[in-house]
Amino acid sequence: MLRPALEFYLDLHLHPELSGDEHRTAGLLATWLEHHGCEVARGVGGGHGVVGVLRNGPGPTVALRTELDALPVTERTGLPYASTVPGVMHACGHDLHLAAAAGALARLAAARDAWRGTVLVIGQPAEETLDGARTMLADGLYERFGTPAAVLAQHTAPLPAGTVAHPGPGPLMPAGATLDVVIHGRGGHGGTPHLTVDPVLTAASAVVRLQSVVARETAPAEQVVLTVGALHAGERANVIPDRAELAVSVRAFDDAALDRVRAAVERIVRAECAASGCPAGPEFTVTSRSPALTPDPALTAAVRGAHEAVLGPGRVATAPPLTAVEDIAHFRRDGVPLAYWLLGVTGARRLREAAATGEPVPSNHSPEFAPEVRTALPTGITALTTAALHVLDPARSEGPV
Ligand code: ZN
Ligand code: ZN
Repeated sequence: MLRPALEFYLDLHLHPELSGDEHRTAGLLATWLEHHGCEVARGVGGGHGVVGVLRNGPGPTVALRTELDALPVTERTGLPYASTVPGVMHACGHDLHLAAAAGALARLAAARDAWRGTVLVIGQPAEETLDGARTMLADGLYERFGTPAAVLAQHTAPLPAGTVAHPGPGPLMPAGATLDVVIHGRGGHGGTPHLTVDPVLTAASAVVRLQSVVARETAPAEQVVLTVGALHAGERANVIPDRAELAVSVRAFDDAALDRVRAAVERIVRAECAASGCPAGPEFTVTSRSPALTPDPALTAAVRGAHEAVLGPGRVATAPPLTAVEDIAHFRRDGVPLAYWLLGVTGARRLREAAATGEPVPSNHSPEFAPEVRTALPTGITALTTAALHVLDPARSEGPV
């Protein structure tokens, strides 16, 4: 079972596709699922969403969720199987999630006498842009394929390969929102600034002042992130442009805090525009929003116990809260319990080097992110299979399959 899953991984890693463009990846997953006995639906959610349904008599439905998309990152791992697509890389490990879900489905399909029920494999596109989960659900994911008894997912992380880490109590990941901001100035000649309203200066003041939201308006014990990830204005040194654009990402561990930070961004940008005498007020567009991720405590405890039984307690750790954002929380709709754990991908040699040099281990979204697939993939397959069996038949989940 491992060699085909490994070859599946290598193929995906060589041929990454960006969010919303996961045509080939979706096709590979659909083919794998059909080969292992699933009924497959394509185009779920209007994009490249794939759902595989493996029926095995009456019983609960468990959903295994994996993402399909890669990132606009140029790979610098030096691996012999590095991305062949210029400027695109599986830098978040979604290829490993896909291969682990594929491997788990194959194991479950080959061991049908060990369980009863239905396994759904949800191949979700457009995770990095935070809209794939929402669009699949809006397209009737639960109505068409059954509301699952649980949704299970894992995410690669720069933890030791061969280990998994489960969240402690409370949210594992914050709620997040992305805002596009347009500041309107009055363009003109660079030599006559007094005849213009310079949006570059207004935008620069706003960027600096926005950092006071975290530093001065947020309680020190509260975790909030505010990043201005893009600032675009102007083309030439001697032309004052008529607009500036900011892209702002905000993250907070509860929705009320997120709304407060968002309101503060609008207040500060409006005030900077007023201070500059902008001819029109700024425009704000929320381009994505995702709720905080709080896995189900009872299911998390049960899956953690099953993982400890199969992997050994030494390979199961507790994950600290993260400030990455995921859209998987949408799958909690209708009270569906969710278990979500981190899958370690960093090899022992790399960890030793990091300890010796003090250099951090390349993490997700880094051009040097290089999972040690030979250790991490079998662990991911075992972790997902074990968790699925727990949901399908709690009494048998601890036996090897
Ligand atoms: Zn990512
Ligand atoms: Zn990811």
